[in-house]
Amino acid sequence: MGPLSSKSMRFDIVTIFPGFFESVFAQGIVRRAQTSGLVEIRMHDLREFTHDRHRTVDDRPFGGGEGMVLKPEPLAEALASLGVGPKTGTREQGSGIRDQEPEIGQRANAGPSTSSAAADSAQDDRRVNGTRVILLSAQGRVFTQALARELAALERVVLICGRYEGVDERVNELYCDMELSIGDYVLSGGEPAAAVVVDATMRLIPGVLGNEASGEFESFGAADAEIDVDVEGVPRSQHGAGGLLDYPHYTRPAEFGGLRAPEVLMNGDHAQIRRWRREQQLKKTLKNRPELLERAALSVEDRRMLEAMEKTGSRE
Ligand code: SAH
Repeated sequence: MGPLSSKSMRFDIVTIFPGFFESVFAQGIVRRAQTSGLVEIRMHDLREFTHDRHRTVDDRPFGGGEGMVLKPEPLAEALASLGVGPKTGTREQGSGIRDQEPEIGQRANAGPSTSSAAADSAQDDRRVNGTRVILLSAQGRVFTQALARELAALERVVLICGRYEGVDERVNELYCDMELSIGDYVLSGGEPAAAVVVDATMRLIPGVLGNEASGEFESFGAADAEIDVDVEGVPRSQHGAGGLLDYPHYTRPAEFGGLRAPEVLMNGDHAQIRRWRREQQLKKTLKNRPELLERAALSVEDRRMLEAMEKTGSRE
């Protein structure tokens, strides 16, 4: 499938439960992407980077309060083993993906003199090899399809899974390019979130999906896609980060549970089918995610259909 498909992307996941991922990554597209060499996923057991008999990864929070916090040292060692050092001196140009510039002031307070040689030797190679370090966190910016697209263009993503009350904040300050949340709820650990990020990202790598186009023609599809207006003046599925939700899908049998699949889908009139699908996209988006309509690229015909829906109050 052309030279692009030979690109391989690597995910490194730092976790205290590497076993969590065994079945998650052993099925379907994620599995195929790995066997075909397009994606490499490695789990790193945080406890391997401890040195005490109990392999301690957590400690009590300064200031008191509930629960435990993941200690910084094992995480720093795990990252060093992946060639990831503190961000000091790392400046990114270009990529909008780095949403935090290194905080020089805080960095200076972190201990400027003593271990600068050590810091140099653990020097960060993320700029060289297109690595980004991500902390999974309920306090992060929310993961979206647009972000998945940005990540899919990288060579390597390192994902740090928190547990307990979270991760010592200095790990974020020193090592992480971004904090990511998968939604406004609290998980008991970053592992399910890491699995979500890997899944959504890897399927956008060229060659992973059987049909190259299919990633563009589903909910929240291709960012900044041009509106592709067909002869009817009805755009085909074009979504973008602020795009529309997908249309409903049907398959055999034609009748099920007393409901018939929409007739329009069976008559082979492709222009009509496209038009119906577009209308359904608008309907579904209006009903379930009306805020997406504000940023969606809409044609004149779309607006006309929306107005009609709003008039008849058909949010069903
Ligand atoms: N005290 C934290 C929650 C800690 S939950 C708070 O109130 O924000 C333990 C770990 O689960 C976190 O460190 C993080 O890695 C992960 N986690 C929880 N919710 C998440 C979410 N919505 N997205 C990504 N990771 C999450």
